Amino acid sequence: MTEPSENKVLWFNFLKAFTRALVQINLYKPDHPQVKQALEEGQALLGQISDTLNGEDFSLTMDNDKLLVNGVQLLTADKLPNSLKNLFARFRIQTISFSRGVTGEDLLALCQVQAFKGEAKEFLKERGIDRVKLNEAIYTKVGGAQPEGGGGTGTGQGAGAGSGGAGSGAEGPGAEGAGPGGGQAGGTAAADERMAEKIAEQGLETALSTVVARVTSDPAEQQRVIELLSAKIKQEIEASVNKALEGIRLEKKKVENDMVRTESVMTSMAEGVVVVDKDGKILMMNPQAEAISGKPLAELSGKRIVDLSQIENQVVSLAKEIRPENKADISPEIQKSGPAELADTVKKATAIIQNEEGKIVGSVSVPTDAVKLKQVEQLQQDFIATMTHELRSPLTSIKAALEILNREAAKEDSSHGILNTAIRNTERLNSIITDILDFSKLQSGKLVFHQENAAAEEIAAEAVESMKAWANSKGVILSVRSAQGVPHVYADKRRTVQVLINLISNSIKFTPQGGTIEVSTDAGQDSLDGFTFFSVKDSGCGIKKEDQAKVFEKFVQVASGEKVGGTGLGLAITKAMVVMQSGRITIESEPGRGATFRVAMPVYKGQGEQPVFEQAAEVKQEEKPWWRKLLGL
Ligand code: ADP
Repeated sequence: MTEPSENKVLWFNFLKAFTRALVQINLYKPDHPQVKQALEEGQALLGQISDTLNGEDFSLTMDNDKLLVNGVQLLTADKLPNSLKNLFARFRIQTISFSRGVTGEDLLALCQVQAFKGEAKEFLKERGIDRVKLNEAIYTKVGGAQPEGGGGTGTGQGAGAGSGGAGSGAEGPGAEGAGPGGGQAGGTAAADERMAEKIAEQGLETALSTVVARVTSDPAEQQRVIELLSAKIKQEIEASVNKALEGIRLEKKKVENDMVRTESVMTSMAEGVVVVDKDGKILMMNPQAEAISGKPLAELSGKRIVDLSQIENQVVSLAKEIRPENKADISPEIQKSGPAELADTVKKATAIIQNEEGKIVGSVSVPTDAVKLKQVEQLQQDFIATMTHELRSPLTSIKAALEILNREAAKEDSSHGILNTAIRNTERLNSIITDILDFSKLQSGKLVFHQENAAAEEIAAEAVESMKAWANSKGVILSVRSAQGVPHVYADKRRTVQVLINLISNSIKFTPQGGTIEVSTDAGQDSLDGFTFFSVKDSGCGIKKEDQAKVFEKFVQVASGEKVGGTGLGLAITKAMVVMQSGRITIESEPGRGATFRVAMPVYKGQGEQPVFEQAAEVKQEEKPWWRKLLGL
C-alpha cells in the first residue's frame, strides 16, 4: 500500500498535468506536442493513482470552494488554477471520477468539454467516454484532514479511496476512511497534509523555505538550496514560457510579413488604391490615392468615403450590385447608386473582403479599368486625328491632278467621264475625312469657336452658294430666302456655314430629282426670344418620328430607302457645333413629305454683352472631386 503522502504527490502531479492540458488545448491543436505530452503524463499518473486504489475510482470533487481528492481536501478554491475551477463552475460539475484504464483520449475529451456549448455529460456520451464520469457525487463533504482544530462535519459517505484518514484530533466525526487504501492515518500523514496546505497557501519563496527547512536545518545550506531551486524554477518557467510564446511569435511574424507585403504592393501600384471597411470608412490608402485626394491617410483614415465626396448621392455603391445576397452586411448609406458609369466602373474594379465566416468586412477598389480605358480612348482619338489629317494631303493632290487631266482631255474623250467620276469620289472621300477629323477634334475638345457679330442672311447665302453646283447636278432646286430685319447672330461664321452645308448636303442626298430645298432665316417666335433661326427645308423622303432623335447620335444612319454614302457622323457633328455655340437644333418632318431642320443661334447683343452665351460656350472644366479623379472618370 502506498503512503498517503506519496499519493498526494501523485494527485498534485496529476492535477498539474491535467490543468496544463486544459490550458493548452485552448491554444493548440490536440496533436500538438505540448498537448500530447500533458495528456500522456495525465494518463500515466492516473494509471499510477489507480494502482494505489486497487481499481477503485479516483475522484475530484468541488465542495464549498474546496477541491477534494478522493474525499480529502487538497486545495482551497483560491489556490486552484482557473481552468480547473471554470470547468467545475461552467458545467456545475460536482465530481469528476476517473475509472481504471482512463486513456489520453478520455482526458482529451474532458479537456475539450470546455469549448462545448451544451451539456458536458452529453459531450462525453456522444464520444463514447465511459471511464470519465461527471457529477457523480461520491464525497460531498470533507471526510478527512482539516486544518488544525477544524472538525469536519461531513459524513464521508461512499466507498471511495479515503486515503486521507484521521489525523491526530483532526478528523471529523464521520470520517470513516473505510475504503481500500484508506485508514493509513498517522502523524506523518497529518503532518504532510498540514505541510501541503501550508505550502499551498504560501508564496513561492516562503513555500520553498518551508520545504527546504525540512531537508536541512543549516541556514547557510538552506540558503544555497533555495538559490539553486529558485534558479532552476526560473529557468524552467522561462523555458516553458518561451516554448509557449514560440508559436505566438511565429504567428506575429507572419502577420507582420503579410502586412509589409500588402503595404509594399499597394505602394508600388501605379493607380490610386483605397481600402474601405463595410461601412465605407477608409482603412488604407496608397501614396497615389493620397496625392489624388490631396490629403494624407492620417487625416482621412476612419472617415467615410461618402462624406468626403460631398456630392449629393452619387457615390461609390459598394456591394449592392456585387453581392446582393449579402446586402444586409453593407451599410445602407453606401448603397446609394451613383451615375451608371461610376457604378459600373466601381463594380468592375471592386473586390469584396470577407472574413472567415464569409461576412463582408470591407472592399478594395483598383479602378484600373477606367484609367486604362481612358488611355486607350485617348490613343484612339490621337490615331484617328493624325491618320485623317495625313490622308487629306495626298487626296488634295490627287484631286488637283485629276482636275488638270480632266481639263486637258477632249470633251468627247471617253476618259472625260471616267475622270469626272474619279473627281466626285475624291470629293466624297474628302468630306468623309472632314467629318471624322471634325468629330475627333470635337471629342478631344480641340475644336475652337470664335463667336462674333455675324449677319444670318450672309451665312445662309454663303452655304447655299457653295452647294449650288451639287444641287444642280442632281436636278434639285436649291434657293435661299431671308425675312426683313432678322437680328444678327453671335456665332463663329465659318463653323455656322459648315452647319448649314451639312444640313443642305443631307437634303440634297435625300431629295429626289425635281425636288426643292429652301434655306431661310427668321426671327422666330416670342417664346424663343434671343435667337435667330436658320431653316433648311426639303421635299425629300423625310424622317420617321421615332428616328428623329436618333439621327443626331454618332454613326446612326436610319433606313431611307435609297442607299447613299456617308458616315453617320454628319448630324452628330452639326448638333455639337450648334450646341457649343449655345444654339439648338430641331427637326420637323413627316415621312414622304420632306424634312425641315431648324437651327436657333443666339442673337448678337452688342460688344461685351454676351455674358450668358460666352459662359455657356466654354466647355466648363469643373474641378472634379478627388474620388472621380481616382476612378479616372
Ligand atoms: P450621314 O453622314 O450618313 O448622312 P448624318 O448624321 O448626316 O449621317 O445623317 C444621319 C441619318 O439621318 C442619315 O443617314 C439619314 O438617314 C437621316 N437624314 C439626315 N438628314 C436627312 C434629310 N434631310 N432627309 C431624310 N433623312 C435625313
